[in-house]
Amino acid sequence: MNDCIFCKIIKKEINADIVKDETDWMCFQDINPKAPVHLLIIPKTHYDNLHSVNDDLIIVKLMNGVKTIVKELGLEKKGYRVIVNTGDDGGQTVSHLHLHILAKRPLGWPPG
Ligand code: AMP
Ligand code: ZN
Repeated sequence: MNDCIFCKIIKKEINADIVKDETDWMCFQDINPKAPVHLLIIPKTHYDNLHSVNDDLIIVKLMNGVKTIVKELGLEKKGYRVIVNTGDDGGQTVSHLHLHILAKRPLGWPPG
């Protein structure tokens, strides 16, 4: 996807504050953080959203990526939230599948 901002981050065509760069996925800081920790985990293959994914294994890899990052940052004890905004009503603004990890503040429920 030529005009996808997250694909450009993967190709290093635009800068991001990269936390982890793995074979199939990467993790970087959200540019507009909504919590003291706000990271994004994305597959290196472009999928518009969860429903475009034709490789079930990547979903497992992304969730394992969450566990890896959370462990490395020591977030398990206090807790954290994983979010996949999907579609217009879900508040998705970037059409490249991504998992948000939010942590280090109490997070309200339900979200707005
Ligand atoms: P969503 O609204 O779920 O689609 O989330 C997209 C997220 O991507 C938002 O939280 C944005 O702040 C974040 N974002 C957009 N552009 C960039 C970028 N260039 N680098 C890092 N995060 C970005
Ligand atoms: Zn993309």
